[in-house]
Amino acid sequence: MANFKRIAIMGGTFDPIHFGHLVAAEAARDSFKLDRVFFVPSGNPPHKKNYPVTDAKHRYLMTNLAVAANPYFEVSPIEIERPGYSYAIDTVTEFHNKYNDVDKLYFITGADAILEILTWKNVEKLTELCCFIAATRPGTNLEELRRFIEELPEKIGKKIHIMEVPALAISSTDIRNRVANHRTIKYLLPETVEQYIMKNGLYQS
Ligand code: NAP
Repeated sequence: MANFKRIAIMGGTFDPIHFGHLVAAEAARDSFKLDRVFFVPSGNPPHKKNYPVTDAKHRYLMTNLAVAANPYFEVSPIEIERPGYSYAIDTVTEFHNKYNDVDKLYFITGADAILEILTWKNVEKLTELCCFIAATRPGTNLEELRRFIEELPEKIGKKIHIMEVPALAISSTDIRNRVANHRTIKYLLPETVEQYIMKNGLYQS
């Protein structure tokens, strides 16, 4: 196994993956000196979504198409292959055991998801095993986010880093709505992913 010292899990639904996610992962790789970023499309999310989540097989394949050109990026199917609900603690524990000689394990995800972290399963154990990178998008209330982190129990709060990502002006919700309304999604996501969406008729309604 490669001699990785600092790795990250990039967790998200990726429905679909877009340039905001790729820019966020690359910015984290650069800022936190990461040897690898593992994109982990979520399987069956425990938190109910307000829209029907696309079949995991499509989200996994789109994520593979999107990261293909970056040698530091990989995609892991562990959440989509795991039966039952997808909990971050199970994913982080698996990575922790598999890459047991890394110095640092990070979990990158959207700041909106981090705001719910106290509801996550085994959150204390989770923050013992990894640090979080909360990617914010334009419009995120940074003051509120900082206050939220400050008010968390210290051993949880000190494990959460904020990373501002202007490219996260792009959002999966907007892309899904654009496709449904026959509007362009060009330059919001890799061309290969755009072609995959059109070929498979995703997000049509
Ligand atoms: P989500 O509701 O789909 O996304 C929340 C927000 O974060 C959205 O604005 C989303 O933007 C953004 N986002 C999601 N993933 C991102 C990423 N990797 N980088 C930058 N922005 C991102 O959240 P989710 O995808 O379900 O959850 C995020 C991660 O947290 C997943 O890995 C999930 O498994 C984990 N999680 C775990 C638990 C638990 O263990 N109990 C509970 C909740 C979430 P876009 O829509 O543009 O992506």
